[in-house]
Amino acid sequence: MTDDAPTGVALVTGGTRGIGAAVVLRLAADGHDVAFCHRSSPEAARDLEKQAGELGVRVRSWRTDVTDPGAVKDLVTSVQAELGPIATVVTSAGIVRDRPLVMMTRDDWRHVLDVNLDGTYNVCRAAVFAMMKRRAGCVITLSSVAGVQGNATQTNYSASKAGVIGFTKALAKEVGPYGIRANVVAPGFIETEMTSGLPDPVREQALARIPLGRMGRPDEVADLVGFLASDLASYITGAVFQIDGGILG
Ligand code: NAD
Repeated sequence: MTDDAPTGVALVTGGTRGIGAAVVLRLAADGHDVAFCHRSSPEAARDLEKQAGELGVRVRSWRTDVTDPGAVKDLVTSVQAELGPIATVVTSAGIVRDRPLVMMTRDDWRHVLDVNLDGTYNVCRAAVFAMMKRRAGCVITLSSVAGVQGNATQTNYSASKAGVIGFTKALAKEVGPYGIRANVVAPGFIETEMTSGLPDPVREQALARIPLGRMGRPDEVADLVGFLASDLASYITGAVFQIDGGILG
């Protein structure tokens, strides 16, 4: 972060745990005031608000389901009223419901698309217009290596994350002339609750494919997000950053 870089208010979805929580802490450490939303973890949200607030910035949390466009709009209005204009949006809320396609229910399909892709649309739709009016802003979406290469048993998740890449690249072209950057972070296997339930054989197979020989940590992903949110990334937009220990080669 350069001394004169404007940090401003960052909004992080899915902020109470995993990558989202690490991003909240990273952005707070970098001097952003941080708003984050969670679906149903008020205690974890309070703890994180306290921990991030100790870094000397304002931190507030809201309970918001990103699949509900009205609730997301209210969230953005509340963040702007309490903390000020939103300079940075990070869409980390995401879910998996893995099954082979032949066993995948319409509900498994719909719910993953609703949270991962529609949720990204809902948040950006609510936040970006104000950024355009201020002619400044930064959007960072969380995709996945699954969205780049596809993963067996994840047709729903891979489709949603490939959609996030297309969405973000299109957005970058649309809002670049307004001084807004939009980039994608595509992690590989990161140690969070999302991956904690992987069966041992799946985990071992995954580890065998990772040249660095280990899963990533949420703070490593958060460091990349912090860089992209900073002025150091002022000429980077429409890009996909894989952070995967080399799994995609
Ligand atoms: P996680 O399961 O630990 O956390 C996900 C967060 O999203 C939780 O806080 C959860 O409450 C929130 N969330 C889920 N549905 C929501 C909804 N409808 N509204 C609001 N919040 C909701 O996951 P994570 O591992 O920290 O993943 C964060 C992001 O990174 C996700 O988009 C995920 O797809 C992506 N990702 C993770 C990995 C990995 O290996 N962990 C790999 C690639 C991509």
